[in-house]
Amino acid sequence: MVKDVRVLRYGHRVKRDARVTTHCCLVARALGAKEIVLAGEKDEKLKEEVQAIVRKWGGQFKINLSSAWKKSLKAFQKKGFKVVHLTMYGEPVQKRVKKLRSEDKILLLVGSQKVPGEIYKLSDYNVAVTNQPHSEIAALAVLLHELFRGKELEKKFSNAKMKIEPMKKGKSVHKKQ
Ligand code: SAM
Repeated sequence: MVKDVRVLRYGHRVKRDARVTTHCCLVARALGAKEIVLAGEKDEKLKEEVQAIVRKWGGQFKINLSSAWKKSLKAFQKKGFKVVHLTMYGEPVQKRVKKLRSEDKILLLVGSQKVPGEIYKLSDYNVAVTNQPHSEIAALAVLLHELFRGKELEKKFSNAKMKIEPMKKGKSVHKKQ
């Protein structure tokens, strides 16, 4: 059963990708991944913003920057992570998800700019969330939901300063000082 899921965001560009990369971080955190590594241009500001969200909303989610995607990918593989590259050219997720759930540790790799062909070869799996072009945020969300079979929706976030009390109508947020 899959116990540890991390994300590698390939090719982050500070100006062009800030918003989408932030959303990749937030989706990864909210839906049960333990860490995201941003490979590409160094973006300390984005890192700090995500860390501020973690401090506010809780949990242990980590964010790290890498200037060398291949080195990072191989380091994960050395630690026993299977690399699952999300790409519209890959095998349909519905055909592969059973096998993926049987892995212990998974590194989900998403692109931003076009990924080099080498990534298809280095990855243990190339998996598609439909064979249509869409978004790394959506691909991540669907993959995490499939991997965890919806259990991630019940995830608790420790040491949260902010906690929402779900309501039928209106908003209720508990703030811890
Ligand atoms: N323009 C880039 C290219 O030609 O490769 C890709 C842009 S796409 C918005 C960015 C990332 O979203 C891809 O690298 C992939 O990780 C993810 N993605 C997009 N569509 C996908 C799909 N159908 N299944 C899985 N991942 C997908």
